[in-house]
Amino acid sequence: KKKAQAKPDWIRIKLTTGENYSEIKDMMRSKTLHTVCEEARCPNIYECWANRTATFMILGDICTRACRFCAVNTGMPTELDLQEPERVAEAAEQMQLRHCVITSVARDDLQDGGASIFAGSIKAVRGRLPLCSVETLIPDFMGNWDALKVVMDAKPDILNHNVETVERLSDRVRAKAKYERSLELLRRAKEMQPDIPTKSSIMLGVGEEWHEILQTMDDLRAVNCDILTIGQYLQPTPKHLFVEKYYTPEQFAELKVEGLKRGFSHVESGPLVRSSYHAHEQVKSAQEN
Ligand code: SF4
Ligand code: SF4
Repeated sequence: KKKAQAKPDWIRIKLTTGENYSEIKDMMRSKTLHTVCEEARCPNIYECWANRTATFMILGDICTRACRFCAVNTGMPTELDLQEPERVAEAAEQMQLRHCVITSVARDDLQDGGASIFAGSIKAVRGRLPLCSVETLIPDFMGNWDALKVVMDAKPDILNHNVETVERLSDRVRAKAKYERSLELLRRAKEMQPDIPTKSSIMLGVGEEWHEILQTMDDLRAVNCDILTIGQYLQPTPKHLFVEKYYTPEQFAELKVEGLKRGFSHVESGPLVRSSYHAHEQVKSAQEN
């Protein structure tokens, strides 16, 4: 049996509480909303919320899949809640968000995978906060490209879909998802709305080789993916996938250089980088490009 590796010094949770933190927490409870910031115990929560960025998880908190790195519960999902887009928008307004990320569990039980609720949420947030940029981090909709089109037609400021890991490890790490299908999703999103930046994310430390990381970057650029985030995988509970390796901050910096060399308009790469980390800056740099 493998032993868990000790966490290196640079993986340290910042303990300073940002302004309004507990107030926002209470408001989320009262609206029965879920944020990835809280559920994933994201180490950036104080910084992000203080910078007016948050990631909402719509379509419930129970997923139809069970990826081996993910702490979200698996099981029978909750009933579809048509009021959810409006509650997300209300919460975004109360937090005075500048950048709002909307994501969801994989709802393979729904015909459109929840695409209409994504589209409704984009529109509802726009209605209340016209200046807030909206990023959608979507599941693969099982390759239902009509569902993808519903989201793209609502024109998010960024379309994000994560490949999560390199091709060789994809089947082992991500339940039911396919590396090729994720690339196809990004390619099609770009074809549907060429002006909307696309984005993807890789987490490191699940057994990939350096050259495979670079290959994944090439694969993403081949489908014109604009923005890349790279972070360290951290094991959410002892039942989840082991951390095979902790990359150093220098290695993350090196990967950022490699990414920019390949033509990504923006690369966030660092041990605590998560898909939506510094997302507000990514919108700006994508627009400048
Ligand atoms: Fe939330 Fe994303 Fe920031 Fe983490 S990085 S706190 S999930 S917005
Ligand atoms: Fe977690 Fe997404 Fe996998 Fe569901 S599909 S288990 S939410 S990573």
